[in-house]
Amino acid sequence: RQALYASEKGLETKTKDGVDITVLMNAGLALDLPYLEATGAAGVGLFRTELQFLIGSQLPSVASQEALYREALDLANGKPVIFRTADIGGDKTADYMEHGNEVNPAMGWRGARMALDRPGMIRPQLRALLAAAAERELWVMFPFVTVPAEVDEIRELLDREIDRARRRERALPESIKVGAMIETPSSAWRADLIADKVDFLSVGGNDLAQFYFAADRDSERVQRRYDPMNPGFLSFLQDTVQRVNKTGTPLSYCGEQTSDAVTAAALMAVGIRQFSLPAAFVGPFRRLVRSLDVKKAAAWFKAHESAPVATLRPAFLEFLNENGA
Ligand code: PEP
Ligand code: MG
Repeated sequence: RQALYASEKGLETKTKDGVDITVLMNAGLALDLPYLEATGAAGVGLFRTELQFLIGSQLPSVASQEALYREALDLANGKPVIFRTADIGGDKTADYMEHGNEVNPAMGWRGARMALDRPGMIRPQLRALLAAAAERELWVMFPFVTVPAEVDEIRELLDREIDRARRRERALPESIKVGAMIETPSSAWRADLIADKVDFLSVGGNDLAQFYFAADRDSERVQRRYDPMNPGFLSFLQDTVQRVNKTGTPLSYCGEQTSDAVTAAALMAVGIRQFSLPAAFVGPFRRLVRSLDVKKAAAWFKAHESAPVATLRPAFLEFLNENGA
């Protein structure tokens, strides 16, 4: 099967009706990078930098962060790598860090909040990213943004690091693209305003669904209440995509629900055109793209907008089967 997908990696990622879909890959360690070439993904849409913070017994030094980012960029061989600044907190805790006793850590001190409250952690990371991407393109993305003003505050930290590097006459990246993740209903609701402040957006569907449904993504008891195939969630996403599209800022989807083909097809039907997914799903996903008539799927969704939750998935699966997807 792997070999089969490998032979397809040179094919265009276009739907049956000719819509271009960009397919990127999720990663977190340097050893994930060779899959870029193997899968034919267009780049890394989500590099989870916190993994390096979580596997060690202390904060990684600037030098070791820089070394990892440089290695990732080298291995990517010119393809873009979107580095997500460390999203620590919530389900991603480091033993050496004081997280406090939070009753709801997923809604607690994490992501952009931690970065802003503790610039001593994010500034060295930004420094490492700027150095690693010297004379190349730097793509950096901020997690768990909840309001547009947080983007301004984080950009200010980035600007300070750029100034610092200039004062020291260090080589800077050729270009710097700044992005934000849409992972909370508050940021989705204001996604167009956030879009105006950044170069790109990425929907973190794992967290976004968790907060949309108020259902813990890691709790088995509420698993069935956490379903991106819920018509309410899909129309919420569609509305977000449409508002962001008006700004011209590109938007991708990096939640891992795309490992399910039915969900992935539904996300295309509601207007998402760029995806970042685990390496193992890149091949099957690209095959799905080529078999889907996305305009037909969108029309199907419009006609089923108010379908009950329980029937949407089987009915859409039937639609896909009937249409050869
Ligand atoms: C997400 O929330 O969808 C996401 C991609 O980030 P993570 O899964 O690392 O929280
Ligand atoms: Mg997330």
